[in-house]
Amino acid sequence: MAYKFIDNYRERGARKQLVELLKRRGIEDKGVLAAIGKVPRHYFFDETFWNQAYKDIAFPIGDGQTISQPYTVAYQTELLHIQRGDKVLEIGTGSGYQTCILLELGANVYTIERQASLYNRTTRVLPYMGYKPNFFLGDGSKGIPEHAPYDKILVTAGAPFVPDVMLKQLRIGGVMVIPVGSEKEQKMVTVLRVGEQEYERIELDTFRFVPLVGDQAW
Ligand code: SAM
Repeated sequence: MAYKFIDNYRERGARKQLVELLKRRGIEDKGVLAAIGKVPRHYFFDETFWNQAYKDIAFPIGDGQTISQPYTVAYQTELLHIQRGDKVLEIGTGSGYQTCILLELGANVYTIERQASLYNRTTRVLPYMGYKPNFFLGDGSKGIPEHAPYDKILVTAGAPFVPDVMLKQLRIGGVMVIPVGSEKEQKMVTVLRVGEQEYERIELDTFRFVPLVGDQAW
């Protein structure tokens, strides 16, 4: 795929319209909305599909994977309450779009992807766009223990359960956001680590994610 980086009035206008749509759908966090308004989502698409980039839909990015729907990205990010300087572990880099949103919010992002083709693409494209997370290739269902603890953990694929090994990588006071359920649909779950062995879990709305595949997953 050839990359083309042009952000003209058409894309900027479509991005503003997307932000308005997300507000109408209930996204309130000003930082999240500003980040969505800033990151050029069309850069993650082949030019042929730029007219799809600012619709509120998930879209195939190759290798059976998708760039998440903007509403889903905004919803998960809002739940994380990112503060500047937060150390965030993201499981499932995918296209890297969500990674850029986290970076725009001032997070220090550790992102892991299991598919080499996607990892190879994001490690080239994101730095070219000016975004510099810490990239990892491998099974993120076990987290990345060597860099723990994290202030926030975001899982962007559907898990059959909340992996214990990942929870232990949250600092006390930290939050994890993870879709949990069947292969067909998942509930968005937030877990707050309140003590050494204590966690508070809340189940929210239903979503459909591609499966989290790995040792502590499907
Ligand atoms: N948020 C991403 C974006 O904005 O493009 C979309 C992520 S996509 C819905 C889910 C990603 O999780 C896929 O790229 C998939 O390959 C990856 N994935 C699934 N299981 C994984 C695992 N165990 N470790 C790391 N990545 C995994």
